[in-house]
Amino acid sequence: MQRTIQCSLPLDTDLLETIEVYNKVVQHIIDIGWSKRTFNKNTLHTETYQDIRNKYPQLQSSLVQCARDMASDMLKREKFRYHKPFKKPLSSIRYNQRTFTPFLGTGKISLSTVKGRKKFPLLIPPYFQPYVNEGRITSLTLCYNKKRQKFIACLTVELPDIPVEEPTTFLGVDRGIKRIAVCSNNTFYPTNHILAVKWRYQQLRKKLQSKGTRSAKRKLKVISGRERRFMTDENRKLAKWICNMPYNCIVLENLRQLKQHSKKRKKVSKALRKKFGNWAYYQLEQFIIQRAETVGKTVFFVNPRYTSQRCSQCGYIAQKNRSSRSDFLCIECFFSLNADLNAARNLSNFGKAEIGGASVNSPNVAVLPMTVTISSLPRASVLATSH
Ligand SMILES: [Zn+2]
Repeated sequence: MQRTIQCSLPLDTDLLETIEVYNKVVQHIIDIGWSKRTFNKNTLHTETYQDIRNKYPQLQSSLVQCARDMASDMLKREKFRYHKPFKKPLSSIRYNQRTFTPFLGTGKISLSTVKGRKKFPLLIPPYFQPYVNEGRITSLTLCYNKKRQKFIACLTVELPDIPVEEPTTFLGVDRGIKRIAVCSNNTFYPTNHILAVKWRYQQLRKKLQSKGTRSAKRKLKVISGRERRFMTDENRKLAKWICNMPYNCIVLENLRQLKQHSKKRKKVSKALRKKFGNWAYYQLEQFIIQRAETVGKTVFFVNPRYTSQRCSQCGYIAQKNRSSRSDFLCIECFFSLNADLNAARNLSNFGKAEIGGASVNSPNVAVLPMTVTISSLPRASVLATSH
């Protein structure tokens, strides 16, 4: 598995110049690639390499290759559809294994610059130290933080895979607005403080937006960053909380399917926007996948259809099963439960039905979110109960 660690590097004029020249080269290759309609690395190389070497002799040839790969990727992402990609003069640059060497024993790193190879002190935060000890550093992305006047090196570390346990116990996790996560083992993640903080930010934003002055706009930018960092932190805690539970398979609803579903019916879309618009659920999902990977657990995605309308006890599906927003009452068997908890139990059941018994040994399961259609499952149970 791959992990990224961030370290800071001291300010250096040569490194800054390298970033500028590198970005100019990337833009140059993008211009050529765009006009010739190609993102093929070989074609780009033959078209641009000599030209660049003559024009920017200070940039080492392997850095030119890095720049060409980066330009090719940017072109590939755009696929000549809308606008030509633009590389900002001070945006981040990528190093491959031929252009940097880490000397972890001495806490240094050597990087190719416009003035040749240079060594820089590399401060790896203690938390990331085990990553570096166990893994292998495969690539490096260098960013320049203009505001803080320093460089940030993002190191990609390839770590040995952790064996994945065979899924035998299933934990359904329902994500909602009022409670960010509800687990099928009757645990509710305490979210009161999160909602309070969110509400405070919302009020502050409203006030500043109505003011509309320049300083208000500046302040808005500051608080949006602060709110984002708060959410990221909470999501990390939440992912850890979920993955530390004694279950080896975590079942989540596939929200991307929900989105596709909502596109077809506008009525649903508004309610869903409300449901999923105020929290970074996708980020939470990513953190859960990452965390599960490190503890050898599986994350399983199921179709979210009917999770809120289906009775987790008898499987009967009806819109009327929801007596109120937060309560669930089955009109068939009169089973009543908190609505979010009922949904979480459904998810757990779906996971159990889909992979319970079947062996899922492939280590990719935890890496790649699996999409499983379970539409046949609830429909069958509807038939069974209505007759
Ligand atoms: Zn029921």
